[in-house]
Amino acid sequence: MIKLSQVTKIYELKDSTVTAVKNVDMNINKGQIFGIIGYSGAGKSTLIRLLNGLETPTKGTIMVANREINHISGRELRKARQEIGMIFQHFNLLWSRTVEENISFPLEIAGMSKKERSKIVKELIKLVGLEGREKAYPSQLSGGQKQRVGIARALANKPKVLLCDEATSALDPQTTDSILELLVDINQKLGLTIVLITHEMHVIRKICHRVAVMEDGEVVEEGNVLDVFENPEQPMTKRFVNQVIEPESSNEMIENLLSQHPEGKVIQLTFVGDTAEMPLITNVIRKFDVNFNILQGKVSQTHGGAVGTMFVHVDGDIKEVEQAIQYIRQQKVKAEVLS
Ligand code: ADP
Repeated sequence: MIKLSQVTKIYELKDSTVTAVKNVDMNINKGQIFGIIGYSGAGKSTLIRLLNGLETPTKGTIMVANREINHISGRELRKARQEIGMIFQHFNLLWSRTVEENISFPLEIAGMSKKERSKIVKELIKLVGLEGREKAYPSQLSGGQKQRVGIARALANKPKVLLCDEATSALDPQTTDSILELLVDINQKLGLTIVLITHEMHVIRKICHRVAVMEDGEVVEEGNVLDVFENPEQPMTKRFVNQVIEPESSNEMIENLLSQHPEGKVIQLTFVGDTAEMPLITNVIRKFDVNFNILQGKVSQTHGGAVGTMFVHVDGDIKEVEQAIQYIRQQKVKAEVLS
């Protein structure tokens, strides 16, 4: 379904160049859920923009559904792009349009009649579980519901491939799971090929069949997800695998933390980025009128940045505690409330 051969993308800056993607070979079969994982700056977004025809490779070729999508005319590209749907971290919905109008939008652009459009929209609303919310505006929806609209809209043109760009990174863990389950459901019902990029290994482990690990623009490891999990070869892959705490030891540790702190809330914070973000988070929490203690923290420094997990205890006025958690979540940090 997708074939990349020796794909390189070099950005020319004023007085330097950046090689964002380097000699990437990749084969993604029809019906596969294929994950691409890497830290910030690894080249994931560039790769997905190349797959979507939004960028042209400096070298190499990209085939999607047996059609070469680089070096083709604008008209051909528009046609090729109908085979590809895309969903985004921040949903990219039209705020002044209702749920059904958002989903109908690509069909309107394609020149479809109102009657045909409304039939397809109805089916899609059912598929993504948004019945009853047809007339709602995006501002009236939860994060998970917004992403459901994003998914339905991406499917409107009946694409062969769905690209997911950090599609669950802005969602809490429970909503993340429900969106991942929906993606699996769609993959099975429609036989759709799904490519997703993420920095979160649990997303890969939960739904992907294959995974490619990217570092500095290159694919450093690729394989079946279970094999990669059991036997990671590259140091970078080992770091990602370690990102998922072993359930047993983690449960025991978490239970301990919870029993030691019956009052207030124990929160697990996970972030990927710069090590500078850790003190930033603690300063953010201190802005609120809460008692705050770091119980345990671990940061692994990597070439592309850092990955950190921190268990904290927050106590105080419940409203302040909730506001602090909400604020943390806006800082690209995953905050899972454990008690
Ligand atoms: P990721 O999605 O894994 O965080 P990106 O694909 O965004 O990685 O970036 C890979 C590298 O390419 C980074 O060094 C980034 O700064 C650079 N880059 C990405 N887009 C551009 C652009 N439009 N112009 C110049 N450099 C870019």
